[in-house]
Amino acid sequence: MTARLLDGKAVAARVRGEVLARTVALAARGLVPGLAVVLVGEDPASAVYVRSKAKAARECGVAAFDYTLPKEISEAELLTLVRSLNDDPTVHGILVQLPLPSHIRTRKVIEAISPEKDVDGFHPLNVGLLAQGTPRFVPCTPLGCMTLLAEAGAELAGARAIVIGRSNIVGKPMAALLTARDATVTLAHSRTRDLAGEILRADVIVAALGRAEAIRGEWIKPGAIVIDVGINRTAEGKLIGDVEFAAAAERASAITPVPGGVGPMTIAMLLANTVDAAASVTV
Ligand code: NAD
Repeated sequence: MTARLLDGKAVAARVRGEVLARTVALAARGLVPGLAVVLVGEDPASAVYVRSKAKAARECGVAAFDYTLPKEISEAELLTLVRSLNDDPTVHGILVQLPLPSHIRTRKVIEAISPEKDVDGFHPLNVGLLAQGTPRFVPCTPLGCMTLLAEAGAELAGARAIVIGRSNIVGKPMAALLTARDATVTLAHSRTRDLAGEILRADVIVAALGRAEAIRGEWIKPGAIVIDVGINRTAEGKLIGDVEFAAAAERASAITPVPGGVGPMTIAMLLANTVDAAASVTV
């Protein structure tokens, strides 16, 4: 392997350390950042995420308020809870774990969260601010990818970047962030023609399509930086990314592993966003 391994665990630990230092400073001024984590239903994967978010929050001096609600809860009841969290001065960040049960309109719930407390960055106002190049809260996974690109020393201005996947939570905000940093961005998706050719031209590759090792090693331009957002479980229960890691690592200058790359960054950035939300209340 010739690529430098971008150690998301280590970078996330550093980010969490910075968050802790900030919460200690805020506590000295009598302010404890608070994060409300709302889980509807018992989806096991979501329950694991929610527990690890709350645990990481507490370790960083962020108060975590857990709301685990039965899957039968009505949309109106969930909206009432969100509105009460909007009005609660001890809550600075609100996270509603997705996906929600199908009888609840996700869009309605996201739109009910106060944009000032929308630490996931999914509210249309925050999406719009990012699109205009004046971001406030940025979705945590792409924000983590940007931190890893900084770690890699990526020169983004003028670089050719490709993002594969156009979801609202990863691909689209990632493309907006790279555009704001003056990269020339291609946003590829399931209908892209000649994906291999598009990727071969790129200096920076962010793979977020959710297809195990679909991005082949020979498509990587020698020296490119590869950020692999994908989390795919093999039949044997192993986690692998969207990029054919071993072959890509022979050509890339830097690459994220799966697991241990982008994954650990997401929660760290959520806590950073929560402290930003709390700090902006006091000024
Ligand atoms: P999604 O399913 O919402 O979107 C996938 C996107 O990929 C779509 O825009 C689709 O057009 C595109 N796509 C699908 N097949 C393609 C193909 N063959 N060629 C090109 N484009 C293709 O996925 P998502 O929620 O954005 O997640 C993407 C991956 O990232 C998943 O593996 C998910 O588990 C992972 N993820 C990881 C984290 C993290 O914290 N590390 C966070 C969110 C998502």
